[in-house]
Order: sequence, then structure tokens, then C-alpha cells
Amino acid sequence: MSDCLFCKIIAGEIPGTFVYQDDQVVVLQDINPQAPMHLLVIPRKHVASLNELAPDDDALVGSMFRRAAALAKEHGYGQRGYRAVFNTNREAGQTVFHIHLHVLAGRSLTWPPG
Ligand code: 5GP
Ligand code: ZN
Repeated sequence: MSDCLFCKIIAGEIPGTFVYQDDQVVVLQDINPQAPMHLLVIPRKHVASLNELAPDDDALVGSMFRRAAALAKEHGYGQRGYRAVFNTNREAGQTVFHIHLHVLAGRSLTWPPG
């Protein structure tokens, strides 16, 4: 998508700090981290929100969650704990309309969320 921020970062048109890449997903450091570790697992494929996921995307979403767990463990948060979350649309605070799995760790994360 030509006007999508994450498509532009994935294409190298806008800089980003990549911590992992494969043929399906990239992982970026969030530019405005909300915890000591705040990563974004982003599919290379443009999907605007969870509402637009198709059955064919099931494996992709599974691999995003497995990548989140692998990175949390790699950073030493597997046992301490971490949160992996998708925000969807306005009331959940979605601001970039290309799905991304937030992976947050390194402090006590409150529940219920704000
Ligand atoms: P959302 O609010 O859509 O759930 O999450 C969007 C996330 O993208 C936010 O946490 C925000 O800080 C992050 N973000 C916005 N612009 C950029 C950017 O240019 N680069 C990176 N790495 N993260 C960004
Ligand atoms: Zn996009």
C-alpha cells in the first residue's frame, strides 16, 4: 500500500530499527516504547486490521505469535512475563492501519489495560 507507514518502512523508504526479518514478517523496535522492551511484529503483507484477516492468514498470525514468544524468551522475559497485543480500530487505540503485534515486557503491566 503506497501510503502505509509500515509498508514504507518494510520497503526501506523510511528508516526503522529492525530486530528480526524473514520472508513473512519483520520485527521493529517501537519508536515510542511503552516498556523496556516494546517490539512490533509486522507481516510483510498489508492487512489493515484484524477485521480484514482471511482464513488464508491463519498461519501468518500463528507465526507472528510464535515470533513474539521467541523474541520475549530471547530477551529474557519468557519466565518474567510479557504481553502480546493487537489494537483494532479507534477505541482500542489503533493508529497505524497495517496490523502489528505489540510485544511489551520489562515492567509490571497492569490489567485491565487503560
Ligand atoms: P497502534 O497505535 O496502531 O496500535 O500502534 C502503532 C505503533 O507504531 C505505536 O506504538 C507507535 O509508537 C509506533 N510507530 C508509529 N510510527 C512509527 C515509526 O515511524 N517507526 C516505528 N518503529 N514505530 C512507529
Ligand atoms: Zn501496509
